[in-house]
Amino acid sequence: MTRRGLLIILSSPSGAGKSTLAQRLLAWDDTMQFSVSATTRAARPGEQEGREYYFRSRSQFEEMIRADEMLEHAEVFGNLYGSPRAPVEEAINAGRDVIFDIDWQGGQQIKGSALADDVVSIFLLPPSIAALESRLRSRAQDSDEVIAGRMVKSRDEISHWAEYDYCLVNRDLDATEAELRAILTAERLRRSRRPDLVPFVRDLNQEFEERGT
Ligand code: ADP
Ligand code: 5GP
Repeated sequence: MTRRGLLIILSSPSGAGKSTLAQRLLAWDDTMQFSVSATTRAARPGEQEGREYYFRSRSQFEEMIRADEMLEHAEVFGNLYGSPRAPVEEAINAGRDVIFDIDWQGGQQIKGSALADDVVSIFLLPPSIAALESRLRSRAQDSDEVIAGRMVKSRDEISHWAEYDYCLVNRDLDATEAELRAILTAERLRRSRRPDLVPFVRDLNQEFEERGT
């Protein structure tokens, strides 16, 4: 009997460190998988179809929504983003944890879905707004105008911090990674996620019976 996989939702204002920390978790435990989202935004330099995102036209994306192929979807910075449902269901039914790098709207939709019991939601805060802006600039992937738009949206994203199970301040990458590992280790050990304990305790009781105690 395997446990069901967890849906690990990572949200934060853009630039706080979600993608970097998601990659570190995947390197720590290669049984976990990343939920590759679909988006209507253009690929950034270095991004590959099917690795960071599935890049789709708006009409293709809307067709996926109509066909109920999205676990959740939302409009962010004027583009549509969504998590394809099929790979997630396949993974959690096989006992593999799935990491989502999605915004608060997607987090709310998944927490309100039939999969709510399998969700662990984590919000990452930047140590300061100045640090957030400098991380967006150091990533060197967006124009000044795009960065300014992301900074405006950050305030809205941060306002949802208290809706999450855990909230971490990402000051130091190694320290935040250690906190994330601790959360996942504990969440996997919850009794409700340990179907293996039922036969185990049955065997302990069987041993009592055999001893006549
Ligand atoms: P997000 O996915 O949330 O938009 P990224 O993971 O792309 O953010 O991180 C944005 C930039 O900040 C990247 O260049 C990353 O290397 C850097 N970064 C992330 N966490 C830290 C940290 N704790 N200290 C310094 N730089 C960081
Ligand atoms: P970016 O364009 O920087 O890759 O992502 C912009 C924002 O969209 C980030 O906050 C990211 O978490 C969010 N996002 C990415 N994929 C999804 C998704 O599938 N669903 C939702 N709701 N948000 C997403």
